[in-house]
Amino acid sequence: MTKRLLWLALAVALTASLPTVAAAATGDAPTFDTTKVAEGVYTFRWNQHRNMFVVTEAGVIVTDPLNPPAARALADEIRKVTDQPVRYVVYSHQHWDHTLGGAVFKEAGAKFISHERCLPHWERRPHPDLVLPDLTFNGPGYDLELGGRTLELRYFGPNHGDCLIAMRLADERILFLVDFASPGAVGFRILPDYDPVELIRSLREIEERLDFDLVIPGHLAPTAPPDLLATERGYYEALMKAVGEAWEAGVREPEEMVRQVRLPEYESWKGYADWLPLNIERAWAYYHMGW
Ligand SMILES: [Zn+2]
Repeated sequence: MTKRLLWLALAVALTASLPTVAAAATGDAPTFDTTKVAEGVYTFRWNQHRNMFVVTEAGVIVTDPLNPPAARALADEIRKVTDQPVRYVVYSHQHWDHTLGGAVFKEAGAKFISHERCLPHWERRPHPDLVLPDLTFNGPGYDLELGGRTLELRYFGPNHGDCLIAMRLADERILFLVDFASPGAVGFRILPDYDPVELIRSLREIEERLDFDLVIPGHLAPTAPPDLLATERGYYEALMKAVGEAWEAGVREPEEMVRQVRLPEYESWKGYADWLPLNIERAWAYYHMGW
């Protein structure tokens, strides 16, 4: 077994066998849990959203605080596995459902990082629960180093929002990728703020340029194998192809497009019945408006 395969087997075994560090749910309260993915690498889930945090001997790196109650629960979860302070909070992209609630970490002295292209958006759409970044980077990448670990932040252009970055733990070969690939699910509702063509391009470029053995997605399952990206890309390619073919055949109204287009190979995916029609309408807009 190669070192890479051994690592993957270990990572999958760890993910499968370790119980969650904590879980709290009473009545209708939001549920959260923390899953250990590798040594010092954890994913925290709050309802359908999740992030990654990385414990090093010089402090903790947190990604995406999500929202104020989630961030408070996350801070407690981190305290259960380490006494190290949170040094950095890295935003995956601009959207409020992933980025609010960082004040609890800011007050404790953490530095916040995002891609520079998030800033114009946050100037247009400020939010009282959003902590603005202390450090931004421009261009394709920035390497965040802390306590012997390297978290690579990589930008692939506008695709979902303006400033989404893929994050890769270099030595551990783990990719944290938000909103691009939710295992076994069609796209979210109307694909808000997604450019489907740029999404397909970005997924392909991430597959080609980054080496990773495991993915932590921003939603649903705690981990997925690397072929998650190709599987998700296949869905969006099939969606755009089917809608494009209907357009070429003369279908012009979105309601008729929704009636005609089917993707039977994805029928078992979460959201197929309710959200595929919304995904189709988003794809229709590309052919109707060039958007
Ligand atoms: Zn988003």
